[in-house]
Amino acid sequence: MTKINSLRGMPDFYSDDLISWSPVENKLEKIFKAYSINEIRTPIMEYTDLFKRSVGDTSDIVNKEIYSFNDRNDQSLSLRPEGTAGVIRSIIEKKLDQQQSKLWYMGPMFRYERPQKGRYRQFHQAGVEILGYPEGQADFELISMICSIINALNIKNAKLKINHLGDKDSKKEFSKALVKYLIPYKDKMDEKDLERLGKNPLRILDTKDLGMQEILKDAPSLNNFISDSANLLLSSIQKTFSDLCIIEIDNTLVRGLDYYTGLVFEASSSDLGAQDAFIGGGRYDNLANTLGGKDMPAIGLAIGLERIISISSITKNIEKKVVFISSTSNIAPLAFKIANQLRTANSDVSLDMDLTDSSIKAKLRRANKTNATHAFILGDEEISSNMIIVKSLRDDDEQVSMSIEECIAFYKKI
Ligand code: AMP
Repeated sequence: MTKINSLRGMPDFYSDDLISWSPVENKLEKIFKAYSINEIRTPIMEYTDLFKRSVGDTSDIVNKEIYSFNDRNDQSLSLRPEGTAGVIRSIIEKKLDQQQSKLWYMGPMFRYERPQKGRYRQFHQAGVEILGYPEGQADFELISMICSIINALNIKNAKLKINHLGDKDSKKEFSKALVKYLIPYKDKMDEKDLERLGKNPLRILDTKDLGMQEILKDAPSLNNFISDSANLLLSSIQKTFSDLCIIEIDNTLVRGLDYYTGLVFEASSSDLGAQDAFIGGGRYDNLANTLGGKDMPAIGLAIGLERIISISSITKNIEKKVVFISSTSNIAPLAFKIANQLRTANSDVSLDMDLTDSSIKAKLRRANKTNATHAFILGDEEISSNMIIVKSLRDDDEQVSMSIEECIAFYKKI
């Protein structure tokens, strides 16, 4: 039989890969709690229309990257490429779009992208949505949280870029002016930018093409189209948080999703390589309305977990581990009873029961190769005397016989 491999860009994670995952996830949950944000879990699959209407059918994500298929009922469904659309769909469905909520989620997202370091087809995001609050305080709160995350996870060489896209009308006005400026340069554009010129001109500001970047130097600037209050918001955010993290106002920052208006931001670190953004987000005041809900101002962020974990220097505490070794002649049931009592007494220790039928000597040899600090040995002699041998695996000579009660007390203090 031929073997079946995993899908490209969808890696498996083993415990060595995962060693930094739970400390980072736990720290993020703590920060969300500190900001009084509540958890929400939505399905990883939704109707395709939800993403077409929210993320936008001019975006790369919906155009080229979405995993869509028809179910047995011939309805088009898609794996979620991002978390916000599902959250807003749920809020509208539960009729919560007229109240304020602060929500966070964590889970896998799916995009058919060209895999490379830091870019996968299944990846994980933690996201926060602050719903029902107009531009102003919620924007400050979210930027404050980003600074907390960068500092709590000890991210080095991080920079937070912020920009303001204006409201729906000024975004449209600016698009028009940009297209007018760019049309004479059409023959200098690559295929991608030409397509953007027709569908979503703002995204040309994102271009990686050096020639285009040169042309854009004299293009109309977004900050001339947005209001004074929008420019003031950017400068006061920068002023307020500049002692917590590096914040840069970047008028060329536009984000790949169509639904953004107002403040947009992206955190990146030079430690990441080519795919250097680890947090992205912004305000999306018109999304709820587009999805059939009431007007609901909103702002949110998404953290790329693979990327933030790869540059965070917080790691797991050293694992406490004991190997339990028993003779296999006739005492296995007792071994399982004692092991159960030990695990109940201290769940912070990992008790690795050797489940093989090999000799005690062979089991000890194996235990010595692990990172366990102790081996607990229950041989035939110990069973008849109701004792357990506690052997240090760090210091060869140390070996003590203990009663089961003494052993439990010892285990509690490991
Ligand atoms: P976005 O939803 O595109 O704003 O992305 C938010 C964050 O998710 C980015 O800053 C990345 O850290 C992460 N991210 C987006 N796409 C991928 C991907 N294909 N693989 C890994 N991380 C990703």
